[in-house]
Amino acid sequence: LVRLRARLARSQGSLGKGLLALLSRDTLDEEAWEDIETTLITADVGVAPTQELVERLRTRVRVEGVTADQARAILREELVALLDPTLDRSLKVERKGDQPAVVMVVGVNGTGKTTTVGKLARVLVAEDKHVVLGAADTFRAAAADQLQTWGERVGVRTVRGPEGGDPASIAFEAVKQGIDESADVVLIDTAGRLHTKTGLMDELGKVKRVIEKSAEVDEVLLVIDATTGQNGLTQARVFAEVINVTGLVLTKLDGTAKGGIVIAVQRELGVPVKLVGLGEGADDLAPFDAEQFVDALLD
Ligand code: GDP
Repeated sequence: LVRLRARLARSQGSLGKGLLALLSRDTLDEEAWEDIETTLITADVGVAPTQELVERLRTRVRVEGVTADQARAILREELVALLDPTLDRSLKVERKGDQPAVVMVVGVNGTGKTTTVGKLARVLVAEDKHVVLGAADTFRAAAADQLQTWGERVGVRTVRGPEGGDPASIAFEAVKQGIDESADVVLIDTAGRLHTKTGLMDELGKVKRVIEKSAEVDEVLLVIDATTGQNGLTQARVFAEVINVTGLVLTKLDGTAKGGIVIAVQRELGVPVKLVGLGEGADDLAPFDAEQFVDALLD
């Protein structure tokens, strides 16, 4: 879990290097600032956060001046500030009295929900937690099989229903199983069809309500595929409108993703990025850390 920096550094470095080179120019004229803005927007940082960052950089450069050495320190401080290092990124996965913690994992199909549930189960089991999985993605035919395979690999039970069955009743059964087994955590995989917002709202709302008949939902983790750039931002907005998201998971940051999307999505939703996916393997999930992330960008 400590490889965030090393793993990101390989693919994400260009944003940081580009910015550093620009900020270290002898004269920071209007053109240089425009280049800095373009670099940030091209890296998916988003327009509003870019403007905020450039404004702060310009003020600091005016007041403090900037040498090549300072440029790195200033950029680092301001990027970390943009990611708000004071946000609570811990996962709520502790039992409460006789109740397991319940985590719903939501997001558009293909973003990496099932994989994230599997990886997270592995992390929790490694922490000696008793975990139950709920395969409430009954829309995608192979999703329950895929989840069960993860479950078997990690050594935890997967509660599943018939294909095309009712996601809410599977979620309910999984939580019931969790309570019966005195589990620490129940992880619920869900379907993410974006055909209509009301359809999504109805389904996720129902899953949550039905779970809440027997246990509190502690986390709703929204999974965003970082390689989809601004599309991911649009998805995030839709989900945030239909359910109270408590944390973000940015997947596929090992690939062609531009790191800036992490900043854009978190700023947009005001919800902390809690985890990042760095590959398809069981160990490829890392807790998000703003400082490590920025260091990877600037390395
Ligand atoms: P779901 O439909 O949202 O449940 O998505 P899946 O979990 O089935 O993942 C879709 C595809 O993305 C699969 O091929 C996964 O192996 C892959 N995937 C998921 N997370 C990551 C990641 O962090 N990095 C990479 N490179 N691939 C990932």
